Amino acid sequence: MNAIPSFKLSGIAIPASTDHMLDEICEHFIEHADVERNNHLAILRSKTSIVRIRADNGTLLIELDCSTLEALQAARTDIAEHLFYFAGDEPLELNWTPLSSLPALPNLHEITVVSAENVTPNMRRVIFSCADITPFAGGDMHVRLLVPPNGRPPVWPGFREDGRIAWPEGQDELLVRVYTIRAIDIERGEIWIDFLQHPMPGISTRGADFARDARIGDRAALLGPGGGCLPSAQTIVLIGDESALPAIARIAAEVPAGTHMRAIIEIENEAEEQPLPTHGTLEVSWLHRCHYPDRQDRLLLSQATAAIASIDEETFVWAACEKNDIRAIRSVLKGRLHDHRKMYVAWYWERSLR
Ligand SMILES: Cc1cc2nc3c(=O)[nH]c(=O)nc-3n(C[C@H](O)[C@H](O)[C@H](O)COP(=O)(O)OP(=O)(O)OC[C@H]3O[C@@H](n4cnc5c(N)ncnc54)[C@H](O)[C@@H]3O)c2cc1C
Repeated sequence: MNAIPSFKLSGIAIPASTDHMLDEICEHFIEHADVERNNHLAILRSKTSIVRIRADNGTLLIELDCSTLEALQAARTDIAEHLFYFAGDEPLELNWTPLSSLPALPNLHEITVVSAENVTPNMRRVIFSCADITPFAGGDMHVRLLVPPNGRPPVWPGFREDGRIAWPEGQDELLVRVYTIRAIDIERGEIWIDFLQHPMPGISTRGADFARDARIGDRAALLGPGGGCLPSAQTIVLIGDESALPAIARIAAEVPAGTHMRAIIEIENEAEEQPLPTHGTLEVSWLHRCHYPDRQDRLLLSQATAAIASIDEETFVWAACEKNDIRAIRSVLKGRLHDHRKMYVAWYWERSLR
């Protein structure tokens, strides 16, 4: 019998507070991995990696155990980026034992625009060619889109010694935004991304503008895929606004026959509705924001709350929309003690205060 390949790496982090860091890690990764917390030890298990983090005398001892070298690099970067994010302005030291680093980010894929057209008045689909789309064929749906500055040849990121991504700076600084792979066409080697056009007077929307202005031959890159698998359950409740519509459409398209879905989707008006073909059954409630008496109404939230109240404990709840609504949906699910393995609840954008 062949042994399962195992790639290991250890690290030591010295944060201001080890307990605070472990709490943050467990709270965040619960959406992405099986998280086990046992006092000073946190274990995060995913399809390709096991991460053990133990608080010991003011340090965090980190052990990574992954099925491929690529997964090991990705896990190291993921942990490093999050530790520094959670540290905020507090000091953090992070060192890894030597590792034969890959020369470039293993999950960076160069892409080229092959077409761009509107699916609805506010949803623009850009299709990209990609030399190797096999990594996108699995269930991971999300990517970071990297766009080089206009008129400059792209400079793609590499690694810093602490495992974080070394982003190009100055004139080579990239635009980075998170999107969903709406579909892939394996035979043609193409990837579809649907970009919501959300123009705001006086505020730049550079991700949306990239799609609006995309020309055949434009170069960009994707980092990923990762975070946010296709849900697997017999009954699924889908909740979201336009930013989640590409993901909802993909989930509907890829579930096996026999899956029952109920979707509550908030969009601007009737013209933004899209057909959502599926092998399962899907009942959709489209909420049209333009008919709300008050633009501040949170109809999506009240409808989501009502839908959640009627589900059983086996139902998978998939929700993605604005940050405040997501916080409220999370607390509704927490209130009914819904199993965290049967939910994906993520904010996709944040309303600015201006
Ligand atoms: C995992 C994940 C998957 C996502 N998938 C998709 C996808 O497939 N398609 C897609 O279009 N978006 C998707 N998003 C959301 C997208 O990343 C954000 O909307 C992003 O802010 C767009 O960047 P921008 O440069 O256009 O606007 P930004 O520069 O980020 O923001 C400019 C202004 O627009 C406002 N704004 C940002 N997003 C929205 C919005 N959706 N509706 C209304 N106002 C907004 C902000 O509050 C800000 O005032 C996803 C996000 C995540 C985290």
